[in-house]
Amino acid sequence: MSLLVVGTVAFDAIETPYGKTDKIVGGAATYICLSSSFFTKKINLVSVVGEDFPESAIEMLKEKRVDVEGLQIRKGEKTFFWSGRYHANMNTRDTLETQLNVLENFNPILPEEFKESEFLMLGNLMPSVQKKVLNQMTKRPRLIVLDTMNFWMDLFMDDLKKALIEVDVLTINDEEARQLSGEYSLVKAAKVILKMGPKYLIIKKGEHGALLFNEKEVFFAPALPLEEVFDPTGAGDSFAGGFIGYLEKTKDISFNNMKRAVVNGSAMASFCVEKFGTQKLAEIAQEDVDLRINEFVRLVEFDLK
Ligand code: AMP
Repeated sequence: MSLLVVGTVAFDAIETPYGKTDKIVGGAATYICLSSSFFTKKINLVSVVGEDFPESAIEMLKEKRVDVEGLQIRKGEKTFFWSGRYHANMNTRDTLETQLNVLENFNPILPEEFKESEFLMLGNLMPSVQKKVLNQMTKRPRLIVLDTMNFWMDLFMDDLKKALIEVDVLTINDEEARQLSGEYSLVKAAKVILKMGPKYLIIKKGEHGALLFNEKEVFFAPALPLEEVFDPTGAGDSFAGGFIGYLEKTKDISFNNMKRAVVNGSAMASFCVEKFGTQKLAEIAQEDVDLRINEFVRLVEFDLK
């Protein structure tokens, strides 16, 4: 059993009311790998970086049992770069700059052994690249989860819709759900999106938790109320990593188990935001994760009598 993760491995520059960073290591796939490593024993990574990407960051991924055979290192080219600024309430952010660099001509090549991965996380990336990965799988994975963002909807909505036809679960935030569906109500948006291909839809609402929909049911998990959120970057990807990592670990893709997966994803996101970049995810231990999941259980537990 294994999990294939595709997405950006990047440099980020982040500004929040708590401070500002120069280029630090980030990227959707980096957060997904770090987060899912608390659940999954073998993670197969497919991505691309430039010659400027630090060897130490690749070593950090290897230490978390990430197989980097599918990580291309392009000589003479630069790593994908994103910079963003958060507003006082931390729920909204402005993208200041996106430099595609190595992503511009990225042709994902799956090592033979990755092509039979049972769980596939198509992290935030160009939709045509997500589709190219799908096309290389020799066996349909048991579960395909896709994450995307407004940037790709603005540029490549048609390509995105083609990829969506083939996925099981779509994870997006509330604004992206509105953009994709053309509906303001999230319940109406879910109905429209579930007709585009995915059987399940997760709408992430930042500090207001996450909603899981299928055709008939809806489930809600809160975000952990935290005294301070330092940097929300990567929260969505950490959520996705916890979600799919938990499903891979438990091998159960029923709606009921997806509810548990949503709570595990929310727990991972709650760690991510406590420090800048990947710092917190890189330093926590399994015991911290177990304790945090119990905190979530206590948060929503109540007695009707
Ligand atoms: P999140 O906060 O979970 O939405 O993800 C933040 C991560 O997404 C950052 O580390 C960025 O490097 C990465 N990112 C930003 N813009 C894009 C994009 N257009 N495509 C793929 N990854 C991106």
